Amino acid sequence: MTDTYPSKPLLKVNGLKTLFPIRKGVFQRVVGYVRAVDGIDLSIDAGQTLALVGESGCGKTTVGRSILRLLQPQAGEVWFDSQQLLSLPATRLRPIRRHIQMVFQDPMTSLNPRMRVRDIVAEGIRSFNLASSRSDCVGRVTRVLERVQLDPRQMLRYPHEFSGGQRQRIGIARALAVEPKLIVCDEAVSALDVSIQAQILNLLKDLQNEFGLTYLFITHDLSVVRYLADRVSVMYLGQIVEHGETERLFTAPAHPYTKGLVAAIPSVDPDKRSVTVQVLGDVPSSSNPPRGCRFHTRCPEVMERCRREAPGLYPLPDGACRCFLLEA
Ligand code: ADP
Ligand code: MG
Repeated sequence: MTDTYPSKPLLKVNGLKTLFPIRKGVFQRVVGYVRAVDGIDLSIDAGQTLALVGESGCGKTTVGRSILRLLQPQAGEVWFDSQQLLSLPATRLRPIRRHIQMVFQDPMTSLNPRMRVRDIVAEGIRSFNLASSRSDCVGRVTRVLERVQLDPRQMLRYPHEFSGGQRQRIGIARALAVEPKLIVCDEAVSALDVSIQAQILNLLKDLQNEFGLTYLFITHDLSVVRYLADRVSVMYLGQIVEHGETERLFTAPAHPYTKGLVAAIPSVDPDKRSVTVQVLGDVPSSSNPPRGCRFHTRCPEVMERCRREAPGLYPLPDGACRCFLLEA
């Protein structure tokens, strides 16, 4: 049975947990766990963009890799197009992989330096048997390169012959070539200059409008998501601390951590910046997260209770927030 009700999420993640064992000594005994992803929920409607935002080390990449089953989560469900990916046998997973592609931060390490652009882009087309002939394959590569504004006459060149922005376009072309439904962009513009960032964000938005793509846009940099994201989920030490509509989150952040992230963006509401305290200090270790609220060690609005008790998610009109301040 297929259910095509438009507001049904294309991707829904429930209670996802991915822990990494910490091993010590000659016997490599497990002495603890890095709680990289510690029970998170996410939901993205088809054709929309969800930004997953948080400081380095909070578990964003682990979420992306767990969704693609490049890592084996300990618990949770990943629903994609009405199938639960974490319980599918590998043979059934393979055809679905085509519909979930990834674009990475550093195309220099994610693009094989010994492969020509043509072959990088054609690899997925070949492995999923999407082309009817050799010339059909080259035709597809030509069209997708044109679509990301690269010159198809350069398809016999190698990645190092391109600029950083052009290499990111190659990475996008590679993802696009297999006609996916969902693209997980992991820090896809984080290594680029601001002007190049804007071009790539524009390209991603145009491609979304043209092909109805759905994006999970992972970034540590909140400033790049306002333009692209419909919704934002803010992650801290393996948990979602706030989620909601992008505009509301930028103009009226609810969680003290989100307030700090928004305040740290130079261009956003300069009047408000002075009254909001920025988030100071380092992120505590995710192998030994603070008791109570995980954010209490850095929270400018910390209360006695936060040191003892862990807040649940309190509903907001457009999402939810994990903070006792929201208690009615
Ligand atoms: P982010 O993408 O938000 O920077 P990651 O998902 O890369 O965060 O990492 C989350 C936490 O998990 C970090 O503490 C990191 O050191 C740890 N981690 C990530 N991958 C591994 C791994 N393969 N083995 C052990 N620990 C890992
Ligand atoms: Mg990462």
